[in-house]
Amino acid sequence: MQKQPISLWVTTAEEDEVSSAPLSGDRIDVAIVGGGYTGLSTALHCAERGLSAQVIEAECIGYGGSGRNVGFVNAAAWLPPDKVHKTLGPEYGPRFIKQFSAAPARVFELIEKHRIQCEATRTGTVHAANSRTGFRELRDRHAQWCRLGEPVELIDHDHVHQLTGSREFHGGLFDHRAGTINPMAYCRGLARAANEAGARISIGVRATKLKRIRNSWRIETNQGNLRAGSVVLGTNAYTDHLWPGLNSAFSAIHYLQIATKPLGATAAHILPGRQGLWDTGRIMFNIRRDAKGRILVGTMGRVVGSTKLGLTHRWALRRIQRIFPDLGPIEFEQAWHGRIAMTQDHLPTIGYNGRGITTGTLFGQSLADLLTGMDPKKLPLPLTNLSSVPCSRLKSCSYDLVFTANQIINAIR
Ligand SMILES: Cc1cc2nc3c(=O)[nH]c(=O)nc-3n(C[C@H](O)[C@H](O)[C@H](O)COP(=O)(O)OP(=O)(O)OC[C@H]3O[C@@H](n4cnc5c(N)ncnc54)[C@H](O)[C@@H]3O)c2cc1C
Repeated sequence: MQKQPISLWVTTAEEDEVSSAPLSGDRIDVAIVGGGYTGLSTALHCAERGLSAQVIEAECIGYGGSGRNVGFVNAAAWLPPDKVHKTLGPEYGPRFIKQFSAAPARVFELIEKHRIQCEATRTGTVHAANSRTGFRELRDRHAQWCRLGEPVELIDHDHVHQLTGSREFHGGLFDHRAGTINPMAYCRGLARAANEAGARISIGVRATKLKRIRNSWRIETNQGNLRAGSVVLGTNAYTDHLWPGLNSAFSAIHYLQIATKPLGATAAHILPGRQGLWDTGRIMFNIRRDAKGRILVGTMGRVVGSTKLGLTHRWALRRIQRIFPDLGPIEFEQAWHGRIAMTQDHLPTIGYNGRGITTGTLFGQSLADLLTGMDPKKLPLPLTNLSSVPCSRLKSCSYDLVFTANQIINAIR
C-alpha cells in the first residue's frame, strides 16, 4: 500500500526535495542533525561563512514540524512583550523582542534572496478573540506593542469579518509584520539554498551515537561514521535517544490540520487576503487558505479517523459550519498532525512552542554566528543547561486526552 504523505504540503510544494549526498569522509567543521528549519538555516548560514557543514536527516527534508505546520510566519513569541521583558530581564528582554519582531522580515528576505517558491504572502496574521475576555487580553497586548512602536493593529468585529468572512469573532489583533507560506516548500527551499552555498545534505541517515574524542565529535549513523568539530542538534520534538535527557527537556503536544479540497468561487469571501488566523481559546483553533483556495483548519490534538469519517472529520465540519454558516457542502482532501515541543516558560529555549518558522531560521543564523566567533552573550537568549520537565511523558499523555475531549465536545455541539 502506498504511504500517505506526511502532510498536504508535500504534494503542493513547488520546491523539490534536494538529492541526498553520501556522508562526508573528511573531518568537517559542523555536523547538523535534523533537516528542518533549524538544521537547514544553520547549514545555510555556516556554509555562507565558509564552514564545511553536513546535515544528517533520518527521514526526509521537512519530516518533522517543518513539513507539517500551518505556515504562519509570526513575529515574536507567544508571550506578550511585557512578559518576555519581565522573564528575560533588561539585557536579553529588549534584544529578544527586537530580533523576534524583525524575524518575519528575515524569513521573507531569505525567500526573496534564494527565490524560494513557497506561496509567500505578507498580508499579516490575525489573532482573533473568541470571547469578550479574549478581546480584553488582545487590547492589553496591543497597548504593549504600541508602546514599542510595532505595526500591530487592534481591529473590531466588523474588520475581522471583512478580513475573514466570519462573524464569529469579537475582534482581533492584526499583525502587519507577519504572513503565511507553504511550510514544506520553504523548508525544501532552505535545503536547496544550503546546498548551493556548499553544505552537504544526507537524507535517510539517522545519527545513533555522539562521542567526544579529543577536539572532535564522532557521529555514528546507520550509514557509517562522521567526524566534526562541532555538532548542532536540530531535532525538535522528533528527537530520539541520541542525546541523554534531551527528549525529557520539553513536553510534546500534537497539533492537527485538515484541508478541504479547493473550494473555488463558493469560498471566495473566506480570507480573501489570505491572512492566517488563530484564536484566543486555551485550546487553540486556526484557519488559513492556501494558494489553490483550500481552507485549512486545525487545533491541538491528533487526527482521529480519516478525511471522510471519524472524530476529526466531524469536528472540522462542525467548526467550519459554525464559522461560515452560509458555506455549502465541503469535502476534505487531507488530514495530518505533528509534534510540538513546549517549554515551561513558553520561551523558545529547547522547544519553539509552535513558532518555529521564524525561530528556527533565526536560531540557525545565530548558531552560525556563534560557531564563527560571536560572543555568546550576544545570542537572542542566554545559554542554559539542559533540565528535565518533571513528568514530561505523563503531561504529553494528559494533553492528548484533553485535546481529544475538546474535539468530541466541539463535534457534538
Ligand atoms: C501541526 C503544526 C503546526 C505548526 N504551526 C506553526 C506555524 O504556523 N508557524 C510556526 O512558526 N511554527 C509552527 N509549528 C512549529 C514548527 O513547525 C516547528 O517549531 C519547526 O518546524 C521546528 O523546526 P526544527 O527544524 O527545529 O525541527 P523539525 O522540523 O521538527 O525537524 C527535526 C528533524 O530531526 C530529524 N531527526 C530527529 N532525530 C534524528 C536523528 N537521530 N538523526 C537524524 N535526524 C533526526 C527528524 O526526522 C526531523 O526531520 C507547528 C508545528 C506543528 C506540528
